[in-house]
Amino acid sequence: MTARLLDGRAVAAQIREELRPRVAALAATGRPPGLAVVRVGDDPASLSYVTAKRRACAELGIISSEWHLPASASRAEILATVERLNEDPSVDGILVQLPLPDSSIEPDVIEVIRPEKDVDGFHPVNVGRMMLGLPAFLPCTPHGIVQLLRRSGISTVGAHVVIVGRSQIVGRPLAHLLSRKGPDADATVTLCHTRTRELAAHTRLADIVVAAAGRPGTLRGDMIRDGAVVVDVGVNRVPDPARPCGYRLVGDADFESVASRAAAITPVPGGVGPMTIAMLLANTVAAAEWRGGAAR
Ligand code: NAP
Repeated sequence: MTARLLDGRAVAAQIREELRPRVAALAATGRPPGLAVVRVGDDPASLSYVTAKRRACAELGIISSEWHLPASASRAEILATVERLNEDPSVDGILVQLPLPDSSIEPDVIEVIRPEKDVDGFHPVNVGRMMLGLPAFLPCTPHGIVQLLRRSGISTVGAHVVIVGRSQIVGRPLAHLLSRKGPDADATVTLCHTRTRELAAHTRLADIVVAAAGRPGTLRGDMIRDGAVVVDVGVNRVPDPARPCGYRLVGDADFESVASRAAAITPVPGGVGPMTIAMLLANTVAAAEWRGGAAR
């Protein structure tokens, strides 16, 4: 079997086209959507994610600004930056690029973002509202995966989905979204992690496997059943002296062996990554619309 590639770039482009008239309508009121990105330190991966997000904003007509603080910035300085952005009426969405150099302050920083500007969907209010099925900003990567499956014609209804990775930003919210009632959900979900016994015994039972472990080679071809759908969330830099930058990006799945058995697979890059950015744009537009509506 040769797997169909689930083209996140194409689906993300479709979502951007759907957002375009909404951005134009906001711009016509003299107040285009605004996204503020806070970046702390000089992690090259964070810089490349922020650059990609800002480029996507610019292409769609969303005004983005970047607040770059040194790695030495204190907790108080980071919180003060976010609080200024909370008060800034030109800012609809605030995104603090994670991880922070001191990851222990991340919960405090996330909690200080106003929930109505929390376009990453990480604030406890948005997480709680999502869990209760109330309107909320959904976290971009899990929501992007749900959209990618739906728009690729892959139903999760009644499917057994095995997710490898239980982080608060990917695996855990995805398990929640896919196990809700509804046409883009209704899956039976198994959530695996490093303490799972015999990971392959679980993944082999799955109709859909989501690999979100952050380790290359976590999922091999012999760990899935023929015809499974594989969503590879992992973004890992592996050394590649043949490339000018000295590395290449790979996912968590061993692409060759998995693609030889799967019915469909997301490539890395070009799968989940563009969907994450598309959902960030969608949340920012929704935040701007909400604020426009609230102001009227
Ligand atoms: P994370 O916070 O490090 O969590 C990784 C999870 O995977 C943990 O729950 C860990 O289990 C589990 N895990 C690790 N190795 C495992 C193994 N061998 N077997 C079973 N479970 C294993 O990572 P994350 O933030 O969720 O990100 C995961 C990956 O997705 C990373 O490569 C990241 O770069 C990528 N990512 C991509 C996007 C995108 O837009 N494409 C967005 C976000 C993240 P424990 O809980 O037991 O430690």
